[in-house]
Amino acid sequence: MTTPPPTSASTFAINERNRVRRLPARGNYDRDTIYPIVDESLICHVGFVQDDQPIVIPTIHARIGDTIYFHGAPASRLLKLAADGAKVCVTCTLLDGLVLARSAFHSSMNYRSAVLFGVGRLVTDYDEQWAVMKAITEHVAKGRWDEVRYATEKEAQSTKFVAVEIESASAKIRTGPPKDDEEDYALPIWAGVLPLALTPSAPIADPLLTSGIAVPASVSQYRR
Ligand SMILES: Cc1cc2nc3c(=O)[nH]c(=O)nc-3n(C[C@H](O)[C@H](O)[C@H](O)COP(=O)(O)OP(=O)(O)OC[C@H]3O[C@@H](n4cnc5c(N)ncnc54)[C@H](O)[C@@H]3O)c2cc1C
Repeated sequence: MTTPPPTSASTFAINERNRVRRLPARGNYDRDTIYPIVDESLICHVGFVQDDQPIVIPTIHARIGDTIYFHGAPASRLLKLAADGAKVCVTCTLLDGLVLARSAFHSSMNYRSAVLFGVGRLVTDYDEQWAVMKAITEHVAKGRWDEVRYATEKEAQSTKFVAVEIESASAKIRTGPPKDDEEDYALPIWAGVLPLALTPSAPIADPLLTSGIAVPASVSQYRR
């Protein structure tokens, strides 16, 4: 099993690439703030440039230490480019609520988001691939790794794994009520926050499920 790289400094250096310019008070560069956002986000969006054309693709990810991983079909353009060392920008977004101000202008959202920068690398080491399969399975549903049939060698070989060492990153977080213009607070308009969260509904068993199989803990106790 490959040992995850040690987490170096607790804070990412602030530079031209990751410095939050717009509303900088909402910016944060601490791993302890950024990584929980990455881990709680079920999916991320990966941006890259191909032939001068920016493209942003949603995908599943998992983080091990200071590395973020993706996997998928070898034909995936994202994975091909990343495997060839493309620069990528990974965005994770958690939507916490609608901020309904008295004015349309000041209406907003409460969120925690993270933007990560790095360069892709093809994962060829078998132990690292295995660790990624586990990390991605556990990222989607904690505890699931111990419940599933593991991938066969053939399945693993038909999957491409890509790593991105996180070189630079930022978080941006908005919390709290609307911030209206002083004169608008007297308006007879409801204002406040409508909290939103990603929560599971009742599980739906596969119609082909063999009878008598109980819902496992990774599903019955699912939470992000
Ligand atoms: C759910 C959601 C809804 C949003 N809605 C709007 C909207 O309607 N209009 C609007 O203008 N903005 C919105 N934002 C904020 C938006 O993400 C940008 O922060 C903002 O638009 C400024 O963009 P910029 O490129 O000028 O940022 P800059 O401050 O110039 O970006 C510089 C660097 O700061 C960091 N950074 C910037 N934004 C973020 C972020 N969100 N998370 C983590 N790091 C960041 C990145 O490292 C980036 O490279 C929203 C954010 C979220 C998460």
